[in-house]
Amino acid sequence: MAPENDQPFNTTKDVLESSGAIHAPTRVRAKRNRKQTTVGFHALPAYLKDNEFIRGYYRRVLPVNESFKSLFGLHNETGNIYTHLLGFFMFLALTIYIARLPPTPLAFGHQQVDALWHSVCGNLDRIQEGLQEGVHNLQHGVQHLQEGLQEGVHNLQHGVQHLQEGLQEGVHNLQHGVQHLQEGISERVHSLQEGISERVHTLHEGFSETVHHLHEGLSGRVHTFQDSVLHMSVPGAAAAYEALANQLRWPTVRWPTFVFMAGAMICLFLSSLCHLLGCCQVHITKYVWRVDYAGICILIVCSFYPPVYYLFLCHPGYLTFYLTSTTILGCMAVAVTLLDRFQERSWRFFRAFMFVALGLYGLVPIIHQWFINNSVPQVQKALLVDLIMGATYISGAVIYAYRVPERWFPGKFDLWFHSHQIFHIAVVAGALIHYKACLLLLEWRDASGGCAVPVTDGPVSRVLQQMQDLGHDLHSIEEVWSKLQLYIQEHFASGATSAAAASSHM
Ligand SMILES: [Zn+2]
Repeated sequence: MAPENDQPFNTTKDVLESSGAIHAPTRVRAKRNRKQTTVGFHALPAYLKDNEFIRGYYRRVLPVNESFKSLFGLHNETGNIYTHLLGFFMFLALTIYIARLPPTPLAFGHQQVDALWHSVCGNLDRIQEGLQEGVHNLQHGVQHLQEGLQEGVHNLQHGVQHLQEGLQEGVHNLQHGVQHLQEGISERVHSLQEGISERVHTLHEGFSETVHHLHEGLSGRVHTFQDSVLHMSVPGAAAAYEALANQLRWPTVRWPTFVFMAGAMICLFLSSLCHLLGCCQVHITKYVWRVDYAGICILIVCSFYPPVYYLFLCHPGYLTFYLTSTTILGCMAVAVTLLDRFQERSWRFFRAFMFVALGLYGLVPIIHQWFINNSVPQVQKALLVDLIMGATYISGAVIYAYRVPERWFPGKFDLWFHSHQIFHIAVVAGALIHYKACLLLLEWRDASGGCAVPVTDGPVSRVLQQMQDLGHDLHSIEEVWSKLQLYIQEHFASGATSAAAASSHM
């Protein structure tokens, strides 16, 4: 039965005093009045009246410092405060646990190392083939150029010879004509002829030399280029390492998991604080419940970070898009919750829309990734776990909205197990279930070396299971690297011989 008047104190002494079992002297009574007391629903100011099915054990309106002391009293918010305060410490402990948790070893068999190598190798082979083809074309081009030049020189030589012959003939004719007239001039003409011949010869020689130099220079360049292709094994190996390192990322980064843990801690801590201060004057409580809602928004947004990050790890474009858009939407929801102007009635639909949009938008990346990762058992398991999380949150919200069970037995659940407490427990449970789903995804990415093992090439978990069944230790990252190093040596040794063979055809 809910009390109609001021509730007794919570301590045994208070209870005895108020029941008249012991007589309280005036001094004690005065002290008692200063101390925290609980009141019935009817005694609350209008702004604190919220759930008429909880009849008693309300704290009176208290100043902030007194309301902090109510942490140690017993009233109808005690359960609400402690459920989330304990949840906060639980998540703090789990965060420390994750920070110290060693990464899951690679679930790599030889098959997986082979698959990884071949996926990188396909690209390297293509690069090398392209380069060799380029060199081949260049060699052809140079050969054509050489031939063209030689032909040009040949034609030039011919031309010069014709010119010489023509000149000689002209001079000869001139000589004959002039011989009859002035024999004395013939000597001069002869020297003129000789001069012209000499010049033509010099021109011819100089030109041949230039062409020869040009030819030698070009040949030298082609040779150098050929050599650089031959020695491509060194930068090639480096390129192979780089390509492998890009694909084989181990361990998987954990910051998205920590973002979620931080979000859960912020939400739970703010919630306990808000419930602690929920009995203050109106100018404080007005903000207290907004902060409480903002905490829930933060939890929702932070919850998306680990699944979106791990599920889209190999699709960075989608990854950035979803994380950015969810964060922007989350910030808008927090702003709508906190800012004064959005508290007006006219914004009511917008406020409701923001929360619904935030919740529904979260389904988009989850449905999208299903087309990418649906064959991975760990992803299936994690999604199943998150379905349970969703069910937990929704049940909590429905219980909260319908104020069950106190609606059926008003005044019977004032202290314990009223709807808000159940909702609080559902929030902590939902967050814990989501934590489990996040760990499953993190383990999967760790075991598959980031994006090293393609999903379609045989899910990691099967290998993991087989190897464990056979009593094998899982591959350590060092083992995988040493095996890949062997591959690189083999590949580039054979690559260098084939390049040498190709160049010898020149
Ligand atoms: Zn609450």
